[in-house]
Amino acid sequence: MAENTFRSPKGVHDILPKDHEYHTYIKKVIRHRARQAGFRRITTPMFENTRVFAQSIGETSDIVSKEMYTFADKKGRSLTLKPEGTAGVVRSFIQHGMNKLPQPVLLYYIEPHFRYDRPQKGRYRQFWQFGFEIIGESDPALDAQIIQLSHKVNEDLGIDGILTLQLNTIGLPESRTEYMQVLQDFYAGKERSLCETCLNRLDKNPLRLLDCKEEDCQILAKLAPDMRDYIDKESLAYHEELLSYLDEMEIEYTENKKIIRGLDYYTKTVFEFWDRETGAQNAIGGGGRYDGLIEQMGGQNTPAVGYAAGIERIIANMKREKIRVPSKDDLHVFVAQLGKEAKKKCLVLIDELREEGIKAMGALGKGSIGVQLKMADKFNVPYAILIGLTEVREKTAIIRDMQKGTQETLPINKVPARLVKMIGENNLDKYSPGELLYS
Ligand code: AMP
Repeated sequence: MAENTFRSPKGVHDILPKDHEYHTYIKKVIRHRARQAGFRRITTPMFENTRVFAQSIGETSDIVSKEMYTFADKKGRSLTLKPEGTAGVVRSFIQHGMNKLPQPVLLYYIEPHFRYDRPQKGRYRQFWQFGFEIIGESDPALDAQIIQLSHKVNEDLGIDGILTLQLNTIGLPESRTEYMQVLQDFYAGKERSLCETCLNRLDKNPLRLLDCKEEDCQILAKLAPDMRDYIDKESLAYHEELLSYLDEMEIEYTENKKIIRGLDYYTKTVFEFWDRETGAQNAIGGGGRYDGLIEQMGGQNTPAVGYAAGIERIIANMKREKIRVPSKDDLHVFVAQLGKEAKKKCLVLIDELREEGIKAMGALGKGSIGVQLKMADKFNVPYAILIGLTEVREKTAIIRDMQKGTQETLPINKVPARLVKMIGENNLDKYSPGELLYS
């Protein structure tokens, strides 16, 4: 490719029509399951004041310390493209006084997010995430419900069999202080075995050393003291109750004491869905409880629990498992014409067909019938309609069955009804927005 041709920026991708079939299907599943469970959709702005993320996700997290797209606007205000969903939702919850609504408030989102990550498979600089948040109550049954909903979505998408649910409790922040000191003491003298990132975060965020993906760091993490010996009793009891609910719902999990999650705001429950094959490298989603976050961001003391997953990684898993999604894009009919008068008839006929729910397209810019029929072949349509000079004169049209190669001539005004019969009522793409409006 010539040097001066444009390409998308590093780490970001076009979603081409074939992949949109996956996006559409996944969004449909999320919307459906969220709605069934009483969640309402929220969309927060693509960018927020930088402090919204810095204050919530934590200054020492990977996201805040190196992955944010931060820029100054013309008045010098620091803004950041959202790297994750929860912080914006919480900002909105506080700003709009949602604590006055019946609690808990159940929200979900499906949006693009941005991180200045090192681009590689499953790691992009713009990616789609969906998420569920239950804000306003604390009970292990709510954590269980978030997990159940996430699990249900995985099941609907056909990928639950290749995922494992990794579950942990990290206790209350105040109870982690002592453990962090214990960890720092444990790592003292072992610095040479640590990767550079872990070395840098040993002082400020030693918990993160436990879930580092580097082999040497993992070996050390296995030997590290057990967090459960230090965290508060209340969190441990809360965790036991959550496990009993998951058992009741027959949702399988793996207790994994090394799951920490990279964001500072978590308390008690944390969990991730891992690909059985690649494990932690490619978690498709994760979440947990964040009881302190709303107060920390200036709201009242309000407990909450949430989950977020990446749509590109889900699609990659679906493709790897050869899971195909139904496509609604396939056309029913291709309309071919010869001459200006025929074109006029076609323009009207195509509109009538679409009103019946028949997906119809014509090559009105093309001349030869032969070329148009070849196009019909390429689009793989089951039927073609031909209108030439004779048909215009006789007010008829020809319907051609592309597979059988047979055709019939009938009055043009009978064509829509005839095609509806041939295609079958159930296969139509009916759309009558006017009828759906309330007045
Ligand atoms: P996190 O909050 O970092 O655990 O992200 C939740 C999910 O979002 C991950 O499990 C991924 O599926 C997805 N995700 C996060 N970062 C990226 C990225 N850079 N590119 C693609 N997907 C991502």
